Amino acid sequence: MTDEINPALERHEVRRAALVVRGVVQGVGFRPFIYRLAAEECLAGFIGNDTDGVTIEIEGPRERVAAFVARLSAEQPPLARIDSVAERELALVGETGFRIVASEVLGRVSTGIPADAATCPDCLRELLDPQDRRYRYPFLNCTNCGPRFTITRRIPYDRPQTSMAKFPMCPECQLEYDDPMNRRFHAQPNACYKCGPHVWLVEANGDICKATSSIATHLQQGLLVAAGSGKIASEKAAASSFAVIEQAIELMLEGLVVAIKGIGGFHLSVNATNEAAVMRLRERKHRYGKPLAVMVRDLDAARAICELTAEEEALLTTVARPIVLARRRAHCGIAECVAPGIPWLGVYLPYAPLQHLLFADKRVRALVMTSANLTEEPIAIDNDEALARLGSIADAFLMHDREILQRCDDSVAAVVDGAPQLVRRARGFVPLGVQLPFEAPPLLAVGGHLKNVFALARGQFAYQSQHLGDLENLTGLEFFRESLDHLMRTFEIEPQAVVHDLHPGYLSTEWAKEWAHERGLPLMAVQHHHAHVAGCMAEHGLEGQVIGLALDGTGYGTDGRIWGGEVLIARLEGFKRFAHLDYVPMPGGEAAIKEPWRMAFAALRTAGFDLESAASLAGPTAEEARVLDRMMERGVNAPLTSSLGRLFDAVAGVVLKRRVVDYEAQAAIELEGIAVDEPDDEPGYPMKFLGGNWTAREPMRISADPLWHELAEDLRTGVSKPRIAAQFHAGVAAGFVQAVVMARAATGISQVALSGGCMHNRRLARLLRVKLEAVGFEVFQHVQVSPGDGGLSYGQVAVAAAMLNQSKSAGKLD
Ligand SMILES: [Zn+2]
Ligand SMILES: [Zn+2]
Ligand SMILES: [Zn+2]
Repeated sequence: MTDEINPALERHEVRRAALVVRGVVQGVGFRPFIYRLAAEECLAGFIGNDTDGVTIEIEGPRERVAAFVARLSAEQPPLARIDSVAERELALVGETGFRIVASEVLGRVSTGIPADAATCPDCLRELLDPQDRRYRYPFLNCTNCGPRFTITRRIPYDRPQTSMAKFPMCPECQLEYDDPMNRRFHAQPNACYKCGPHVWLVEANGDICKATSSIATHLQQGLLVAAGSGKIASEKAAASSFAVIEQAIELMLEGLVVAIKGIGGFHLSVNATNEAAVMRLRERKHRYGKPLAVMVRDLDAARAICELTAEEEALLTTVARPIVLARRRAHCGIAECVAPGIPWLGVYLPYAPLQHLLFADKRVRALVMTSANLTEEPIAIDNDEALARLGSIADAFLMHDREILQRCDDSVAAVVDGAPQLVRRARGFVPLGVQLPFEAPPLLAVGGHLKNVFALARGQFAYQSQHLGDLENLTGLEFFRESLDHLMRTFEIEPQAVVHDLHPGYLSTEWAKEWAHERGLPLMAVQHHHAHVAGCMAEHGLEGQVIGLALDGTGYGTDGRIWGGEVLIARLEGFKRFAHLDYVPMPGGEAAIKEPWRMAFAALRTAGFDLESAASLAGPTAEEARVLDRMMERGVNAPLTSSLGRLFDAVAGVVLKRRVVDYEAQAAIELEGIAVDEPDDEPGYPMKFLGGNWTAREPMRISADPLWHELAEDLRTGVSKPRIAAQFHAGVAAGFVQAVVMARAATGISQVALSGGCMHNRRLARLLRVKLEAVGFEVFQHVQVSPGDGGLSYGQVAVAAAMLNQSKSAGKLD
């Protein structure tokens, strides 16, 4: 860009404008970007952070101001997200030059912390460049990349408030940090060999590996020299720190399990191409079925093990770097036991320099990188905590001294029906706000029970926490509290009301009641599936009435039964139940969720199969069958459910003969998996409709009884299991579409919001959308929020805020 002043331009009128930019514009290199832009356009003025974004004042020729405003949006830094730019005319001041002003000058504190971002291409180039002073330095970053959320204690997002506070910058880093033209201007985690964190390797018993103890000494020597004579010292340190990583690589190539400290917590890592090594990890974790995520060097390596669509490739390479569930290639070299029984693989790319360095050794093709925890406990983040909790799992620990302040698992995403969908929203997305269709008062919504995520709302945004796991015990609840304190501090939100699920027995409900009581805050309970549907509505700004299809695992219903196959006529403020899957008992309650044969037996008996044929299809022993029958007859420990997730379990129990599941929804995922290559044009097994009187508010029941009889007949005549699975999916989709058509006939509504955990099922999501559109419906699905229980708190916020707004405006009318 030329900076010569054009005389023709100079004659043009001069103006001064104030720009208020909202969105993700702090801690992402926005101010230096504006500084450079102003310099290039020869404009005077200043920029500073304010409460919700940045304020800019610019003065110069009209054309150049216009060019500046256009370029501001067109060329914004990679991690920025501009939600709005408000422009206002000001009187001329006549200043020269452009300044970056301190936040205090604008009289307000800045708030907000950006999400963690993957190593940018510039930093990656430096990492692998032997001439660069940060060659192979595992903690390099810049304003366009690096950790943010996970290293920040409180606002404002400045180095002293992060876990980088204990690493004073060396003069070279400080120069970069202070120079607005530098890529590292105000990059809070900026560091190098001389001044930043370092890695070391520890054996499971706590001693530094013998093989690397000399390296540790070298490293210390290198650092001691570093204070005096720059270059030589950093080269020494470079060699040593990479040697530590090389040692960890050797251990993994030998088949050992290494715990590696990452961005949001420790990973347990093994060579993903070594069947025995992966099995060793499974045995030590006591997890045999749950799929493990695999990290590979780059996109080409991902293509070698998975068949990737363009959408999946785009998802893999976003700065959030989620784990992407993609179709695994046959004979791709990845150990079978990484993801047993399903055709997909959770694959992702390195997002931290340390991870890139693990793949610098060409012998490393793919590494299992799974959250370091036992079953559903929160991920380990602290060095001592990791040693204590993971000592029986990992053979060695690759650690570092940059503290992780916020636990944050990897995010998980998939392309469902051509669009990206979040299965688990965590690292890379948190704490970015999700827009609400209206202003919300300060609220806390505590979410559900499994896969808990809470949300804080204020103004136009809901801020969801990271995935917190299952709230089944005190460890989970502790993580919840820790994370809530942090987000309340981060966004300076003091909730004025607390929203919880309708289920009286959830730990989150009990906790919400107690917390609200202590603070004298009002409480609101939102029905589970209403929250699911409302979340989808709010994401799309739908404020009228829709037909909500909530297809789900389990959620507490207004009649005290367990819902999950629901056709609702919903507004944000409330809903009516139009239709639901007919009730089936869950013999054994919670046990029926973990043991699909129980659901299979119950569903078959409900469908009219005699004891003997139900037992032979579902697989219980004669004694088990008798016990279950008695439970159902007497209604003892056999709660009724309309859950579609349980119907999937039941069918998987019969078709796949799966007796016990190792992780939530395993049976349903396997059932979807075996049908993956079957065509879509199946007619589907039939469902039938019972009762239902909309004017009398009596919901219609969708019965799977005929489905069971045709399915059993197909099994008897030897129809292939993949085909049976496909027929089942098609039948479920067709049955619900028919119910939605009846809902339209009764109400005239033709917008459908799809939600609930079953929407993770690609086949079902696609079939529903295609069939609904074919009969003229407008179909809405989740975009930024998970359709599963991870999205529940966002929907709870939408319902509560809409109800509060409604009562406020009703108050005005009085
Ligand atoms: Zn960078
Ligand atoms: Zn430095
Ligand atoms: Zn749910």
